[in-house]
Formats: sequence, C-alpha cells, structure tokens
Amino acid sequence: MDSTTTEPAEQSLATVLAEIHADLLNERSGEVANYIPELARVDPDSFGIGVVAVDGRSLAVGDAELPFTIQSASKPFVYGMAVEEHSRDGVLAKIGVQPVEEAFNAIALDEATNRPFNPMINAGAIAATDLLGGDTAEDRLARLLAVFERGCGHPVEVDEQVFASERATGERDRALAHLMRSFGMISDRLEETLELYFRQCSIKVTCRDLAVLGATLANQGVNPITRQRMLSASTVRDVLSVMHACGMYNFSGEWDLRIGIPAKSGVGGGIVGAIPGLGGIATFSPRLDASLR
Ligand code: GLU
Repeated sequence: MDSTTTEPAEQSLATVLAEIHADLLNERSGEVANYIPELARVDPDSFGIGVVAVDGRSLAVGDAELPFTIQSASKPFVYGMAVEEHSRDGVLAKIGVQPVEEAFNAIALDEATNRPFNPMINAGAIAATDLLGGDTAEDRLARLLAVFERGCGHPVEVDEQVFASERATGERDRALAHLMRSFGMISDRLEETLELYFRQCSIKVTCRDLAVLGATLANQGVNPITRQRMLSASTVRDVLSVMHACGMYNFSGEWDLRIGIPAKSGVGGGIVGAIPGLGGIATFSPRLDASLR
C-alpha cells in the first residue's frame, strides 16, 4: 500500500482499497485472453487498483506499477482524438454510438448506415484510428503517442512483442477493416491504419497510469497531476458518453446498473473508469469475464 498523504479521508480510502484488494485477491474466476498469443504470457494472478483524484492526490494498492498493454482501454482516448480532429458530427458520419449485443470483434456493421455501431468495439475503434491525421505512419504514431503522453504524464512506448503478436494474428480486425473499406467508411491507407491500431493497443501502461488517464477524463481533459490538457472538455463529454453506453461491451448495461460509472476494459486486463468531478479509478487483473475477452 502506498498513500501519498496522511489526511484522515485518504487514510480511510486507503483502508477501504486495501480491504477490497485483500477480499478479491483470491478470486480466480475468468480467463486470460489468449487469442493474441503474447497476452497469455502474463501472470494471471496479478491484481492492482489505482485511484487518482481530480486534485492530483493518488492511492494505489497491489500490482499498480506492473506494466501491461492498454488494449481497448485506448479506444475512448483515440475516439476523443478523432472528435478533436473531425468534430462530433464529422465522426458520427463514420462511426455510430449505439451499444450492441454482439461480441467486440463481431464482423458486423449497421446495415442502415454501413457505420460500425460504436467506437468501443473493434470496428468502430479501427475507424476512429483511421481518422487520425498525419503525413506518414510515423507521424500518425508520434501524434497518437504524444496525446497519451500528455494523459499519462510521461512518455509512453509500444510493447513491440505484443504488437507483433497482434499483427500476426489480427485476421478479424483485418476483415473488419476490409469490410469498412468496401463501404468507403475508412480510407485506403487501410494497412497503415491497422498497424497504427495494433500499436495503439500495445501501448504499455500501469494501473496507476490508467487511473491518471481516468482522472484526466474526470477532470474535463486536464491531467490533474501535470496540469497538461489531453483533450478538450467538450470532447471529454462525448468520450464519457460512449464509455458509459458501450465501454464494457455487451456487459455495459449491467455494468451501468451495478457499477454506474463510465469505464472501458482492455483484454490486457486493465479497466479505466472516470467519476466526473471526482477522479479516476483503474484496476489490473488479467483474468477476464467472457464478455470482455
Ligand atoms: N487489440 C484487441 C483486439 O483488437 C483489443 C480488444 C480488447 O482489448 O478488448 O482484439
């Protein structure tokens, strides 16, 4: 347990977090995602919780400093980048915001509009990545990493082994990209966009980083520790809305009922949540429920 202050309120939150962590430490249900072979190499018993308040105070318990790949927890932020670049309506022309019953990697588009249903599932996330500008692949990656750097408060890097593993096995994502291309919903730099998407999913973060990213959303787009802006306040409003409706895939409705905060899962084991005006919370536990893997 590490606590950065000794105020009574934080001490009690630290105690509550430690109790929750101890209670759940021996929970062994769920399975590690293995459809991306490199992800299966993780220690399934790792478990961390991080909390960061909008005033910058933070708490962490368990494996909060262990690096893992961000995977789909990157999607809300990349959606935000697309909205900043193309406006809400510009992005809505290409990506819907409807929750779906299908799996996150289903080969399906909205038949009425040919759009992916929402930006939290793979089709919509690839379409959002496609909207990121830049003259070259390197330029697009550098811009994307720079935004995550502002959100995390330090430089971020791609796990090249996970990236290579995703690229080698990402046939469903490739199929989705080709389907969207056939309807003119993504650009013809399809291969470049897929590589960028696989790299975005392979960004290394810790549970503490995810909590800071969540707190940045909770703080209207400003990292509460560095005070650097990651996204505009109006973009964050849209990002939180789609996280709320679609962030936990086809478990989003029940998540909302039981947990009630906008959140996004990743198959690497991270979940990022934001409580607007209060702070961010993140967990890292690689064993996943069936709806999240
Ligand atoms: N990189 C993963 C994929 O494309 C992300 C899925 C997830 O994290 O839920 O399948």
